[in-house]
Amino acid sequence: TYVVTDACIRCKYMDCVEVCPVDCFYEGENMLAINPNECIDCGVCEPECPAEAILPDTEGGLEKWLELNSTFSAQWPNV
Ligand code: SF4
Repeated sequence: TYVVTDACIRCKYMDCVEVCPVDCFYEGENMLAINPNECIDCGVCEPECPAEAILPDTEGGLEKWLELNSTFSAQWPNV
């Protein structure tokens, strides 16, 4: 899965939302989150983010962000 990281906070360019083929982005007040259960790992959102906030969880050290994306996406509205 891909995860949204702290570079998204207070940016929310939303370019990623437009390209996601499965609409798995969720929107909080200050940032977006990806639902890891819905993400199909296509990777098209990563280069679309001007803040470079989206990374594959295979990158390492992103366990905290993976957990937060999972928690947030369960609470926030789909966009
Ligand atoms: Fe959506 Fe693909 Fe990005 Fe996953 S990797 S959030 S499916 S655009």
